[in-house]
Order: sequence, then C-alpha cells, then structure tokens
Amino acid sequence: MRMLITGGAGFIGSHLCDRFLEEGHRVVVMDNLLTGRIENLQAHRNNPDFEFIHYDVTGYLHVDGPLDFILHFASPASPADFERLGIQILKVGALGTHKTLGLARAKGARFLLASTSEVYGDPLVHPQGEDYRGNVNPVGLRGVYDEAKRFAESMAMAYNRSHGVDTRIARIFNTYGPRMRHDDGRAIPNFITQALAGDDVTVYGDGRQTRSIGYVSDLVDGICRLMHSDVTTPVNLGNPSELTMEILARKIIHLTGSRSRLDFLPLPEDDPKVRLPDITKARDLLGWEPRVDPDEGLRRTVEWFRQTPPPGAEDDR
Ligand code: UDP
Repeated sequence: MRMLITGGAGFIGSHLCDRFLEEGHRVVVMDNLLTGRIENLQAHRNNPDFEFIHYDVTGYLHVDGPLDFILHFASPASPADFERLGIQILKVGALGTHKTLGLARAKGARFLLASTSEVYGDPLVHPQGEDYRGNVNPVGLRGVYDEAKRFAESMAMAYNRSHGVDTRIARIFNTYGPRMRHDDGRAIPNFITQALAGDDVTVYGDGRQTRSIGYVSDLVDGICRLMHSDVTTPVNLGNPSELTMEILARKIIHLTGSRSRLDFLPLPEDDPKVRLPDITKARDLLGWEPRVDPDEGLRRTVEWFRQTPPPGAEDDR
C-alpha cells in the first residue's frame, strides 16, 4: 500500500509513519513544518519507501503515482498555538481538508481525518459519546481549532455522501508520548519540562479540571484499526481513565523525582472543565481499547524528555 500522511512530521503523524513503514508500506509525508519537525522523521531519511514533500496542504495538491490511503493529520493542535496560529489552523482544517479530500477522490484513496475531542467543546454531557453534539464557542480563543475540525468532519461526510469517497473520522482525545515538542505548551510537556528543570509546575485554574490521557502507541493502533474498518461515522479514540490536572502535575513531579512546587495560574478562556471519552463504539466495532496504563506511559515519556534535549539546546552548552 502507498499512503500519504499530511502532518507526518508532527508528533502523532511521525509515529504513524514508523508504524506503516515497519509494516512494509510506502509512505509519503506532506508537511510545511509549521509545528512539525523534520527530526521526527530522521530514521527514515534513507529509506527508499519513504518520501518527504515540504508543502502546505492548503494549496493545490499534486502527488505523483497511486495512493491507497490519505491520513489528514496536518494541523497545529496545542491550545498554546490557538491565538498565534488561528488563521493557519482554520485554513488547514477547512482548505486543507477540502484539498486532501479532492486528492482522495482523484486517486480513489480511502481518507482518514484526524478529528478531536475538541468538537465537544466544554462538554455538558459526561463522558462524551459520539452522539453528543458539543458545546463550542465559535468566537472564543479555542473556536479556531474546534470549528476547523467540526467543518472538516462535515466536509468528510459531504465527500462521502456526494462523491462516494471512502472516509473515516477519528475523534482523538488528549494523546501524549515521545516527540511532543518541549515548548508545545500543553500540560504534559509543560509539566515534564518544568519538573525536570526543577522549576515551578504551572497548573492553570484550581487544577480540578479533568482530562483523560492516551499513550501514542495505543492511538496509532486505534487509527490503524479504524482505517481498516468499514466505520464511516466518527469514532472516539482515547483512554477512559480520567484525572485532574493537579493530580497529573503531582504524578509527574513524583515520576521525575523533582522537588518542583505547583504554581497555580489563571485558567485560559473556555478551557473545558471535564473530558472523558466513551469508547464503547471503538471497543464494539474496532475491538480496540488502550493497553498502556497512564503511569507506565508517563514513565516512558519522562524518560524520552530526559534523554532528548530541546532543539537548539546543544548550541547553548
Ligand atoms: N494546563 C495546565 N498547565 C499547563 C498547561 C495546561 O494546567 O502548563 C491545563 C489546561 O488549562 C487544561 C489541561 O491542562 O485544563 C490540558 O491542557 P492541554 O493544553 O494539554 O490540552 P487541552 O486538553 O486543553 O486541549
């Protein structure tokens, strides 16, 4: 099989590349490196089955040769980027999804959209099943990401209905693991970097807001199963173990052996108070459920951060 992964130089995209190349497929990555990092693909540089195209997927797309699958993972995804990269986020979710769907149609490829739990916004239903329609503020700071992904889901369904494109939609909940950017701004990389440096760990709000954290290898497994399934409606992929941000921060301080203290800072606008996937659908239709326990996943992630200095850090030595 030959696949195109947009955003393949990013955190999740690069783990997908590893998996597909390992399985003997041919992989084309398209990425404009806005938040992705070419270093994430270093291992495949000389692999004849691997190709990198430095390109912005919001423009006209041309890829030589056949494609069996297109996985659309391109998008900045950290809330820390929502203000700075708002327009790019809206463009890649809207124009980029339109272009990649057009390419899927032209190539007769199956299309998988990386959607998000953010389509549920600040949810009024808990846990969140796929039928829940969400509580999103279109003009708030997070609206750029939430609405881009909601539009992308609609667009995928429209291409499915109108053009018969074979589409899949993964609603991805908080995912973590090696290759998250040190300066990504999300809770786990922030907490780990701060704890390893012995700095205060920044907990926003009162720290009682919850998330459920899924290790990246489990997510990759879920994506592969969804891709090979016949489920065209959205499927939640996440780890149904919910924890508060204060507990997460304390866990990370403990795992790093740090003496950092908690620093409570103001809660960002529209920050969801709770988030927990109902994964019944993934269990029933894909036979999927997460296998990596959060303590184990966090241990592996801390180890990676410990061994991997942030880019540019070598120059400062
Ligand atoms: N958060 C925090 N400290 C940080 C970064 C994030 O307390 O240094 C909180 C954030 O306010 C949110 C939760 O952690 O409630 C998860 O945030 P993240 O940016 O990881 O992703 P989100 O789930 O909000 O998209």
